[in-house]
Amino acid sequence: MAAHGSKTLDDVGRLEPTAARLVVVSNRLPFVLSRKPSGEWNVRPGSGGLVNALLPVLRNRGGLWVGWTGAIDGSVRELEKALAGLTRDAGYRLQPIELTGEQRDKFYYGFSNEVIWPLFHDLQTNCNFDPEFWRVYRQVNNKFASALQQRTEPDDFVWVHDYHLMEVARELRALGTRCKLGFFLHIPFPSLDIFLKLPWRAEILRALLDFDLIGFQTLRDRRNFLQCVRTLVKGPSVRGKGQVIELHLEEPGVGAPAPRELRIGAFPIGIDYNSYAELAASESVAQRALHFRESLRNRQIILGVDRLDYTKGIPNRLMAFKNALQRFPELRQKVTLVQQVVPSREDILEYHNLRLEIEHLVSAINGEFTEPGWVPVHYIFRSLKLPELLAYYRAADVALVTPLKDGMNLVSKEYCAAKVDEDGVVILSEFAGAAAQLQRGALLVNPHDVEAVADCIYEAVTMAPEIRRARMRRLRRTIRDTDIFWWVDSFLRAAIEKDLSHFPLVEDYVPETESVLTH
Ligand code: UDP
Repeated sequence: MAAHGSKTLDDVGRLEPTAARLVVVSNRLPFVLSRKPSGEWNVRPGSGGLVNALLPVLRNRGGLWVGWTGAIDGSVRELEKALAGLTRDAGYRLQPIELTGEQRDKFYYGFSNEVIWPLFHDLQTNCNFDPEFWRVYRQVNNKFASALQQRTEPDDFVWVHDYHLMEVARELRALGTRCKLGFFLHIPFPSLDIFLKLPWRAEILRALLDFDLIGFQTLRDRRNFLQCVRTLVKGPSVRGKGQVIELHLEEPGVGAPAPRELRIGAFPIGIDYNSYAELAASESVAQRALHFRESLRNRQIILGVDRLDYTKGIPNRLMAFKNALQRFPELRQKVTLVQQVVPSREDILEYHNLRLEIEHLVSAINGEFTEPGWVPVHYIFRSLKLPELLAYYRAADVALVTPLKDGMNLVSKEYCAAKVDEDGVVILSEFAGAAAQLQRGALLVNPHDVEAVADCIYEAVTMAPEIRRARMRRLRRTIRDTDIFWWVDSFLRAAIEKDLSHFPLVEDYVPETESVLTH
């Protein structure tokens, strides 16, 4: 695998000199617009790995990013004007999609976050299969497709991101687009039994098959997807093995006669490793980390960092920590759990109730175990600025990352990148996408198994320093070699390369078995 640090960004941007213009499509644009009381627009840059990885590529190759601005009360023309200044000399353009309040509620909060998000994370009981959500989801996907149809050329490569936009290829093909279309699913793809619960299962699966390339985070997601295809679609066959394979279909697609072929790959998303490691190594972050440690009296710090979400398994984790304090009394006074929760989607009732549940558990644990000079759980319910987050990463002896299910989980990777002293332990859920890549360095655990998580906590805080370091070095190497630039590079190459045998195998993870390198 070729490693790309930030210095090789240019190489990624020039990956394929003859390649088509890149058109990135995501629910949100890399800038957020909101209206000021004066009526003017306030523009803030978006954050996150995707923005950091794709904006430089667009700057280098030229291109277009299509997405929603987050606002619901502006006309496209108004939004275009507000964004125009940002990209005048940048070499790429931004195309805003406007949504009405109803579309935001039924497409974004409704179908995306109350149907697909819980179902694809195996939490079918949290789903609200309202047919009205589906109607508006299709309507908004059609809106994205119409905007794309007007602004793309046949040679463009259109890269659509995530579960909000699974119908875009189908809609675009119906409009007659001939561009190559790629799709990357950032969240997990569920197993057949769960996918079949979706009332619109056949429509969504077929819509995905109208893309030319579909990327998943892990081989497990790809396997699940293929099993659904084999069940719901006539006569599929697979050619090749490894990171990218070809799917041969006997059914026609929209505007594509049978037989036809598309590519399917596993592309585990990475982080901008070098920039995290550099910032974490700075004097100011080091000082802050020292301060955190001293104010917690140099006890071992176990760290949880999560968005408020029922997929993150925060209550299970708190129960496991409590179990560890009960079963291993020698840990009392010796360890502190710092649990940060980033506020998110609190308008949805489940999220609001989850916050109450977490706060109840934190106070119950603290009520039961606090002793003079020691409070077992430090709870932070707010978002942190990056230098502060990195200082927590640096200060923490153990990262406790136990989602019930997660597409990848970037916190586990960021924690390792920030451990510039190469000392620290990652306890990682088997059901995080990151488990496949990090299985040889992390302590993998079933997050539902409270006693097993408690055992891992004990193992982590008592691990011999040389073993901790060897594991952390291995984790950091993997995360550095498959960083966010490697991810962009792999996906774009999978769309154009003739010979797929160039793509190395990515690691698989199947609980209770030795790691296997297969698809
Ligand atoms: N994060 C953040 N603010 C915080 C704490 C975390 O922006 O106060 C970021 C963190 O750096 C990471 C992201 O939130 O990049 C969480 O990504 P992850 O893949 O772990 O989970 P997601 O929230 O995307 O499901």
